[in-house]
Amino acid sequence: MPPKKKEEPVAKPILGRFKSNLKVGVVGLPNVGKSTLFNTISGCAIPAENFPFCTIDPNSARVNVPDDRFNWLCEVYKPKSAVPAFLEVTDIAGLIKGAADGEGLGNAFLSHIQAVDGIFHVVRAFDDPNVVHVEDRVDPVEDLEIIHNELRLKDLERCRAEKDRLSKVRQPGNKTEHKDAVEACDAVLEWLEAGKDVRHNDDWTIKQIEWLNGVQFISAKPVVYLVNMSERDYQRKKNKWLPKVHAWIQEYAPGSPMIPFSGALEQTLADMPEDEQKVYCKENEVSSALDKIIKTGFSSVKLIQFMTAGPDEVKCWQIREGSKAPQAAGAIHTDFERGFICAEVMHFDELKELGSESAVKAAGKYRQEGKGYTVLDGDVIFFKFNVTAAKKK
Ligand code: GDP
Repeated sequence: MPPKKKEEPVAKPILGRFKSNLKVGVVGLPNVGKSTLFNTISGCAIPAENFPFCTIDPNSARVNVPDDRFNWLCEVYKPKSAVPAFLEVTDIAGLIKGAADGEGLGNAFLSHIQAVDGIFHVVRAFDDPNVVHVEDRVDPVEDLEIIHNELRLKDLERCRAEKDRLSKVRQPGNKTEHKDAVEACDAVLEWLEAGKDVRHNDDWTIKQIEWLNGVQFISAKPVVYLVNMSERDYQRKKNKWLPKVHAWIQEYAPGSPMIPFSGALEQTLADMPEDEQKVYCKENEVSSALDKIIKTGFSSVKLIQFMTAGPDEVKCWQIREGSKAPQAAGAIHTDFERGFICAEVMHFDELKELGSESAVKAAGKYRQEGKGYTVLDGDVIFFKFNVTAAKKK
């Protein structure tokens, strides 16, 4: 008798939506520099004035994700068309204290946050008497607390509503599913009531994660903390609030990245032609933080890139970490997923090291991978598929 096939352990799903087009929303109190950041990131001109509610509707922009590997592939293949990966960034406008109870434009903003997959949380660490602070003082740590609290309150409200809804179901269509949902909801409610964020628990079970991913709590979303400081502070890498913000993150959001930037500098650079930007950066010994912000936002929502490369086109495709080869093929076209035969894969690092596709092949490092292959960040892939395959019913 052949040996029994070992069952593969089931991989735990990750929190969040499993799709390749994910959005990161810019969140923070009014007048901390969100619109300035969004405008400079997207290069699109929405108003950024000294007025707390100038961005009422969320504004979205798709921004290119800077990547040296993409640049290298373009140099080598000299393709007719070149397309980098993108990240969708949304400007969500000012939350204020009491937003969870509908203060300001609170509830609308909170629902916009619900719709994104990750958060750029901007705090203000710059003094400027000309820019009103909504709480009449500059204190980014307290600002962090305010926003954090509003978001958690919203989740609590949501979780209680879910519990209420589940308790009213008299005859569930599927009893096991209903029982799992009730158990998950109770566990999450207990967690939130203890003042903790959903994302700060590595022990959620598969069933709990499945339930969480159906509901999409705000505190489950990854956060990148962006500290907006004066150009001078940014240049000298010193600001009195920075250590305090860092300590707060260590305590309440361990593992979340913190990136200092200067809205004023980004605005100055955005207003200059590229050659002047270079001169300015060199003279003042500064560099823009935008590339780092975009890249960090991209990886924080668990997106990775794979590439397709040839003389016609070099393209980076974004997919969720953990995607299998057919799902990655599906990012290109649904037919590719449906008619998936195999993926011919080389890793970018090997391609760069060996210099060409033929050298990778000669070194025996060009692989054929099947349906079960988990695509890695930096894989360069050629998919084989059969488009005539009929859709499975
Ligand atoms: P939002 O309400 O958070 O979207 O804030 P805005 O981006 O509209 O910025 C509010 C005001 O602060 C605007 O007048 C900006 O020009 C100004 N601002 C943004 N970043 C900085 C900065 O780093 N330093 C200074 N001094 N002003 C800034």
